[in-house]
Amino acid sequence: MNDPPEDVAERLEFLRERIARVAERAGRDPESISLLAATKGQPIDRVRQAARAGQRLFGENRVAEGAAKIPILSAEFPGATWRLIGPLQTNKARSALQYFHSVESLDRERLALRLENLLAESQRKFPVLLEVNLEAEATKSGVLPESAENLAAACFAQPHLDVRGLMAVPPFSEEPESSRPYFRRLRELRDRLQERFGRELPELSIGMSHDFEVAVAEGSTEVRIGTALFGPREQA
Ligand SMILES: *Cc1c(COP(=O)(O)O)cnc(C)c1O
Repeated sequence: MNDPPEDVAERLEFLRERIARVAERAGRDPESISLLAATKGQPIDRVRQAARAGQRLFGENRVAEGAAKIPILSAEFPGATWRLIGPLQTNKARSALQYFHSVESLDRERLALRLENLLAESQRKFPVLLEVNLEAEATKSGVLPESAENLAAACFAQPHLDVRGLMAVPPFSEEPESSRPYFRRLRELRDRLQERFGRELPELSIGMSHDFEVAVAEGSTEVRIGTALFGPREQA
């Protein structure tokens, strides 16, 4: 394979091609996979380069970092969509709803209830994903797989939460293939929840810079890519 290109616009094109290639190999429509640009730790100018190259879907990990970037970039690129992909403290829920178009890290009932209360005030329906901590890693957020059914039930009961699917970050390994069993388990969990509740959960947010091709082969509908698009992060 060729070396990845240097500039953000070229990297974006390169990534889109790689996603399309694996999708086709897996018999999937490349259009069914979104590329989310993970902007944490990236200077606003680099994010702007991606937006100029046509990127419209972005993800931030922290509400405060989103609050610093999103108003500026939304003014320049009004069609941009921002998703919160990092852990959300209940006391930041109001602020998260102010800046983000969806939350992919919903992992506990208390947060679901808090979001519901806030959303009900403004009669707003809000898309969420449930984040699953597949390996019960202490350093990671996410609901444990065995508690996912209870959380899903609690979320489905909230009229202003639009539960779209599941998200996960598997244990890190340099070897992309190590992620495959985790991606599979998340997809199987999604299938079980769909059956159990008779609700569609179309979205699977899986795959990052090092393992997105495996994720696409395993059914990802959204890969979240940071360093492979923007280069190394400048802040933690
Ligand atoms: C940082 C981050 C990403 C992107 O990671 P890269 O390895 O830089 O592609 C994706 N998802 C989440 C939840 C992240 O925190």
